[in-house]
Amino acid sequence: MQPNLSDIPPIFYPFDSHEPFTACKVCGLDLLLGTTDYFIEKAFKNNIEYQVSDVVFEYAICSPCAHSLQSSISEASQKSMAEYFQQQEAFLAKMEAFQQGKGESIATVLTKCSITNQPVSQLSDYMIYGHFRGNKMVTSTMPNVVSGQVMDELSALLSNETLGAMNDFKDQYFGGPVALEDLWKDKPVFL
Ligand SMILES: [Zn+2]
Repeated sequence: MQPNLSDIPPIFYPFDSHEPFTACKVCGLDLLLGTTDYFIEKAFKNNIEYQVSDVVFEYAICSPCAHSLQSSISEASQKSMAEYFQQQEAFLAKMEAFQQGKGESIATVLTKCSITNQPVSQLSDYMIYGHFRGNKMVTSTMPNVVSGQVMDELSALLSNETLGAMNDFKDQYFGGPVALEDLWKDKPVFL
């Protein structure tokens, strides 16, 4: 096994499965061939009182499809997001340590918002994001947990053009209960 790969944490499996995602949501590529890296994003809605968590949406996307979707993010939005993350010094330091193998374990990273450090158990909504190859996680990239608060801060920075492109992506690939669609409308999709 290559040193920068590790087992996929089950939280990154499809919600109704005990096995990893098998196909790119956009082009259908067989991800388990291991020939093309891919990313998984999952959004959760948490009932804090009852500690019950629902998956709002989830998908795996191959890196070529992710790159082509990224091109739908306007230059202004890309600049705003880059500036936002450049200001998060603790987050950047944590990510750097992780990439050098000196950071927190994957399990610990996944317990709290990567930016605010709020425990996931206390977040009413959040997203997780990670980088994968075949049936392994690529651990040179720190997986991220993004709280609803951070998503709101980010979406406030995005241009209408970018939010429109993100909503089009969600409309095209995720049908679902209207209430959930409304909940996640205008929240950024991380690619
Ligand atoms: Zn694809």
